[in-house]
Amino acid sequence: MIRNVFFDRDGTLGELGDIRYPQTIKFFADAQEVLTRLKSRGYRIFIATNQSCIARGTDGGYDYAKEFKALGVDDWFICPHDKNDNCSCRKPKPGLLEQAVQKYKLKREECLMVGDRETDVECARNAGIHSALLCASGRAPQEGTKAEHIIYSLHDLLSLLDK
Ligand SMILES: [Zn+2]
Repeated sequence: MIRNVFFDRDGTLGELGDIRYPQTIKFFADAQEVLTRLKSRGYRIFIATNQSCIARGTDGGYDYAKEFKALGVDDWFICPHDKNDNCSCRKPKPGLLEQAVQKYKLKREECLMVGDRETDVECARNAGIHSALLCASGRAPQEGTKAEHIIYSLHDLLSLLDK
């Protein structure tokens, strides 16, 4: 039984106008509603996101905390590093999920990671939690995806989690 849902940010909760600039995100129409409904059903909601724009200095001091608080999520875990920094938290490495598991003493079998990329799926697998790949806007899943579940909109999560 899933009790904790992790979301990737870019491409999952919304789309970026320009990947370098976090403030250009346009949330999907159903993102807020789905988060609110999951919260009201008692799920804990986390964000796990790579933001290499911080390492590159293009984030302009963007206030992620303000954004995530406004969305009503419980907590967020951000990798601020660039690809070449070789950190342990950049997805698909499991560092962000490990931080959350430790901070909240989560049971891995009760955790689901939702993301739009195979790196999110790999991250979930590396952390030993469940995975759902979001293929929004009619996008086909990556061939050979290892995702346990494939959803075609955030809304699909509501029925997936009902099962
Ligand atoms: Zn990192």
